This record gives sequence, C-alpha cells and structure tokens, in this order.
Amino acid sequence: MPPITRFAPSPTGMLHIGSARTALFNWLYSKHTGGTFLLRIEDTDAERSTPEAVEAIYEGLRWLGLDWDGDPILQSKRAARHREVAEQMLAAGNAYHCYCSPEELEAMRAEQKAKGVPMRYDGRWRDRDPKDAPSGVKPVIRLKAPREGETIIRDRVQGDVRIAAEQLDDMVLLRADGSPTYMLAVVVDDHDMEITHVIRGVDHLNNAARQMQIYRAMGWEVPSFSHIPLIHGPDGAKLSKRHGALGVAEYERMGYRPEAMRNYLARLGWSHGDDEIFSTEQAIEWFDLDGIGRSAARFDYDKLRSLNAHYIQQAAAEDPAGLIAEVVERIQRLPEVDPANSPPAHALAQHADAGGRLRTLLPELAKRAKDMNELAINALPYVVSGALSPDAKASGLLTPDARAMLGRLAQALDRSPDWSPEALDAAIRSFAALESRKLGDVAQPVRAALTGRAVSPGVFEIMAALGRSESLARLRKQAA
Ligand code: GLU
Repeated sequence: MPPITRFAPSPTGMLHIGSARTALFNWLYSKHTGGTFLLRIEDTDAERSTPEAVEAIYEGLRWLGLDWDGDPILQSKRAARHREVAEQMLAAGNAYHCYCSPEELEAMRAEQKAKGVPMRYDGRWRDRDPKDAPSGVKPVIRLKAPREGETIIRDRVQGDVRIAAEQLDDMVLLRADGSPTYMLAVVVDDHDMEITHVIRGVDHLNNAARQMQIYRAMGWEVPSFSHIPLIHGPDGAKLSKRHGALGVAEYERMGYRPEAMRNYLARLGWSHGDDEIFSTEQAIEWFDLDGIGRSAARFDYDKLRSLNAHYIQQAAAEDPAGLIAEVVERIQRLPEVDPANSPPAHALAQHADAGGRLRTLLPELAKRAKDMNELAINALPYVVSGALSPDAKASGLLTPDARAMLGRLAQALDRSPDWSPEALDAAIRSFAALESRKLGDVAQPVRAALTGRAVSPGVFEIMAALGRSESLARLRKQAA
C-alpha cells in the first residue's frame, strides 16, 4: 500500500519556517513513493487557534507549491469521535475514571516536589471502586498505562528510543468537560486517516511514546515514526523570533522565490550526497527518510540568498514572460514589501510597455539580483514613464561638462537612422572619438541620465530597450 503522510499544524500564528520544512518532507516523501499527502488542522485549542492562522497555513503551503490531497481535516470537528474512542477504552478496561479535584492534584504535585521525586499522577483512581466517587464531581478519563516494561519507538531518524513505563503516568484522554486531549486526538485522527508515516519535529518524540500507548490500548497498528531535527538560527540557538523573519509569508515579502525555498528547506536536515542545487523533480526522485540527519540544521541566510539568486536567473532564462509579470507586479508592491528601499510614488506609475522594455534587459538585471525586491528596484528605471531623478552617485556624474556633452550627443544620435544596440555602440564610439573622450566618460553620464543611477546593464542595450524617443528625451532632460 502506498504511504499516507500528513502535515498537522496547530493554527496559532503564522506558518513557521520549521513547520514548512516538516510539510515539505511529508510532501516529498509522499511524492517520492506515489503516496498521499493529507492536511490536518489541529485547531482544538479554541483560544489560540484563529481563522487567520488557518488561512496563513493554506496560503503558505500554496505559495510553496505543496499541494495536499483531498479536503483539509479540521480536528475540532472530530471531538465526538475522539470521545467515542475514549469511551471504548473505558469499556475495554484500558482506561478509567479519575475523580481527583484540581486541588487534590495540586497537593499531590506539591508533595512530590517536596520529596524531590518526578511529578506524575500516582494512579490513585486506577483500581479504586467507582462507588467511591464523590458526588457532583465530573471525572476525567485516564489511560491505564502499562506499569512495567518499556515503550520502544522505532524511529526512522532517531533510531530505537526506549522509554521506561515508570517515566509515563496515566495520561488524561478525555477532560471532565468531555473534550479530548491533544494526545488522544492526534492518535485517533492519524488512525482514522490511515496515516502510515508520521514525519514531524523531534520536539514531538516524547509524545510518540504516549501516543504508542494509546495505539496499543486500541489494538491499532503503530505508524512509522520519523522525528526530524530542529532548525537552529545562524548563531546555533534554537530558531526563534529573535532570528527575524520566521513566517513563510515573510520570506515571500522579502523576495524569496518558492522554488528557492523548497530547495533550501529540503537541504535543512536532509541531504543527497553533495548536491546543493536541485530541482523539485530531483528532490522528489531522491528524497528518502534515510537521508535525514540527526543533528540540528543551521539556518544560513547567505546560502538561501545565493540559491534565490540562482533561481531568479533560471526564471529569467526559462520563463522570461512569467518573471517580467512578477517584476511588474512587485514594483507596485515595493512600498509595502520594502519600505526602506521604496521608490517615490511617481516612479511607480508604469509605462504602458513596461514588459516590452524589460524583455532584453532581463538577463542582465537578473544577474544582479539576489531577491525579487532587488530585481524590482533594478528594473524600475526601465518601466517608469519618464526618467527617475538621479540618485547621489548619478548626480555626481552629471557635471556641467557632462551635461553639455549630453546635449551634443542627443543631437548626434537624433540623426542616427538605426537604433539597435550595435548601431548605438558604433554611433557613441565615433561621438566619443570626435570629442576626444574615452568611451566610459561618455557612457557613464549617459547611464546617469537614462537610469538615474551609476550602475545598470550596458547603455546601448538600455537605449535600445527604451527606444529612440524615450532615450533622447531622457538625455535632453539632463542636457545643459
Ligand atoms: N500540531 C502539532 C504541531 O503543530 C503537530 C502534531 C503532530 O505532527 O503530530 O506542532
């Protein structure tokens, strides 16, 4: 039977980068094996779960291209089934009612603390006659956990993990108000969804031992477990808010491409030989649980950025029209996604043929950009109607002498019948020779006048892309 995996996030905030990696591993494994990838929203914590957070999960997964099979399962809708299973365990004698009041439990814990022994429920209602039940107290249902032996988690990543029976107390399955605990809900749902492989963060390893006890009590088959290492920040500490952007949406905002994120996240904890750059198709072909390492992976922004630069160039080569559409769209979003680098409002008004102008310049622009915001900023001079006002460096190039020269150049070029890069190259070279200037001394002020910047793709290409009248208008605007 082909495997069935799942991603089971708790919708309490944004879709974290660590969760995204867990989703990716499950997705890759199901694609690799021809299996099924299910999505379960663990929204049982009514106070912390929000509809916005659920939406953020859907959006984040969609952006990453991690499509799930069928409809998402909402855990909160399954409470009746969870209750049913708890009752079944009760009827079979694998669970029992516990009537301890919160005060009693508190006193028990205080006593254990004073004695310096681990704080665990001592099983005082395990074998007690229900006739002793105090009146008016609603009981919880606890699992009758094995008192002896050990639970062995045969983890595909962590190896065999043994947990002695004494370390686990009789956990609550159903609260006094009839609501299921997280531990019960996860097991019942994984069983009912016929999950064969549970791949999740190693922070759930201890839960696996408790969950196995529930599987055993119900006589259900235990799935294969793979607990994957955590992601650490660049400083080696566990990845946290302190390390900056952590939600998937934030990476989109910062201009990372989904295919770069997929490649990067796949390498966080998983490896295939020395391969660093690989397509999603290759990742699917190669992905296996044996390739997941045990040590924590370290988040490395430089690596992510260089992968992103690679995928920007690849998009420029393979799908220029698609990339141009994205650039044009992102230029409009610059004030929102990159306020620090935002162009003046007037610059956002685009020329009707913004796409056409970008077509020939795209490969050069793509080479200079590590993220989509940089690419949008680099593309800005060519998509606006009218020139950008020169920045500080460009202003420095526009000396009185240079401005006078631009006037003469505009006049000379006006007579040039051909506006191809080759013809412009020849015309500007002969103009430079005529004026006894080096080519660079002509090209730099031209660049400043055309783009408002001191760095850009080649000026002949720019002039060809902008066309004759726009180029001449920009030169004349700066001409003295
Ligand atoms: N809902 C849990 C979380 O978001 C995951 C549970 C599981 O994968 O078993 O951490």
